[in-house]
Amino acid sequence: MAKLKKQKIVAGNWKMNTTLLEALTLAQRIASVELPKEVMTVLCVPSVFATEVGKIIAGKSNIKLGAQNCHHEASGAYTGETSVDMLHSVGIQYVIVGHSERRAYQNESSEVLVKKINLLLAKGLTPIYCCGEPLSVRQTNRQNSAVAKQIKSDLFHLSAESMSKIVVAYEPIWAIGTGLTASAEQAQDMHNFIRKTIKKQYGIEISKYISILYGGSANAANAKTLFAQKDVDGGLIGGASMKANDFTTIINAY
Ligand code: PEP
Repeated sequence: MAKLKKQKIVAGNWKMNTTLLEALTLAQRIASVELPKEVMTVLCVPSVFATEVGKIIAGKSNIKLGAQNCHHEASGAYTGETSVDMLHSVGIQYVIVGHSERRAYQNESSEVLVKKINLLLAKGLTPIYCCGEPLSVRQTNRQNSAVAKQIKSDLFHLSAESMSKIVVAYEPIWAIGTGLTASAEQAQDMHNFIRKTIKKQYGIEISKYISILYGGSANAANAKTLFAQKDVDGGLIGGASMKANDFTTIINAY
């Protein structure tokens, strides 16, 4: 297995926002700011804009392109869908999978997620795998077992080599787009729990080096405290990634 190295990552999830012009303006603003070399910035843009955004970030080794979804089959008669090869061919290197919005609105099952993750890894792209509990589960203090269940069913079929290539994003559903952020302590506790869960299955090396991002109303004001937590290796940022100043402040919070 290749030597492992923990990567700090801040990924912006633009969701179904921006026109082409808006996307290019936002990417230009982000790319014009000096960003730390040791943090990988990932722009998960609407994939229809990936080629054009890619031209703006070309030559910036610390900014990569990401997508927000892919189809679970490699190719074929799936009208309107986007394959992993298509994404790869326009320069996308990271793909969000298992986002709670897709689990909820597109009924994405663990079976489908497993197929997507396997396909992405086989094609050399990095899945940003999202997990996280709803409010009712948090309120009854069952978040650890709920997240462990997701991780086991979506990821634990992977070999150690494959697991080492996954980026995990802990995204408590009650914090996404709500303005409610997990406290630094809640984030640290869960990230530590996720790392321990991975350690039990795959051993210390992989658990130590896997990047675990926090997502859920992270913003320019709270990023520093969140990123200061031992087991928080970066963020998956929704709303605040749409404002260049806020997003670059978050990246610079490291
Ligand atoms: C997300 O959708 O992945 C997310 C973290 O959104 P927000 O930052 O807006 O809560």
